[in-house]
Amino acid sequence: MIHKLDEMTWMELDQLDRERTLILIPISPLEEHGPHLPIGTDVMAAADIAEQAAMQLAHKASEHAIVLCPATPLGCANITADFPGTISLRGSTLKNVVVDICLAWVGQGFKYLLFCNHHLDPIHMKAILWAIEEVKAEHTVHIAETMSRSVYAGLENEVATHGRAMGLDMRFEIHADAKEAAYIRYRRPVLFKPDAAPLEPVRIDVRKGMQAGHTTFKQMGAEMGYIGSPAQSDPDFGRLHIEACTRQAVELALKLIRGESLPPISPKMWAFLDKFVNLD
Ligand SMILES: [Zn+2]
Repeated sequence: MIHKLDEMTWMELDQLDRERTLILIPISPLEEHGPHLPIGTDVMAAADIAEQAAMQLAHKASEHAIVLCPATPLGCANITADFPGTISLRGSTLKNVVVDICLAWVGQGFKYLLFCNHHLDPIHMKAILWAIEEVKAEHTVHIAETMSRSVYAGLENEVATHGRAMGLDMRFEIHADAKEAAYIRYRRPVLFKPDAAPLEPVRIDVRKGMQAGHTTFKQMGAEMGYIGSPAQSDPDFGRLHIEACTRQAVELALKLIRGESLPPISPKMWAFLDKFVNLD
């Protein structure tokens, strides 16, 4: 059964069996998404993934209670912070926020937490992952984050396959791109603003940009705040994208509550976060 945290009383929450309750916590920053997509694109996607996953889990894990939290609209997005609308936390701040959210649940005896995230910035990812590790080091709990266990785990991605079939070079579909534009067109079509500016494809090699000393997408040449080909989006591609994210979240949640091993985060990615990504 699904319980929406913000609509529950503490007594209703307190009645749930701690051993059979999964807490779903959507988390992503408010961030500019080009002239054509809303600032809340990632927050909306994270909330959608959590809500859709909750509905599937209510059937697939019916012996468990699913507590669906309202989206936490926080994250690290320094790379677009030179546009209005991006509210970027320092990595250390986000890490503390995530630790505190976890400890609030753990302190009440809850043991299964899944952060549903739709933002792949390395600082954001490191903050969440390091927070989870810190809490797990002190408590016997089961906590995970979705993107690290799909993208960082190298899971097969049929969305990228579909994108390539559409003629997209997915290496350059990075931000407010064809996928995200497609998602908004699918889920909230009135928020898609294709006429706000000419949406010419923007192809930028972010790795090279960083090596050249640039710290934001704008400095790398993304003057309108997007990297990719958002004009090449269609609602069907958006549906595919969000369904794939949801399916991965559901599979991860089932592993988490059944005590099975989670898809491993690539050691290379872990080493990159550890050595090259700074939370301060
Ligand atoms: Zn985004």
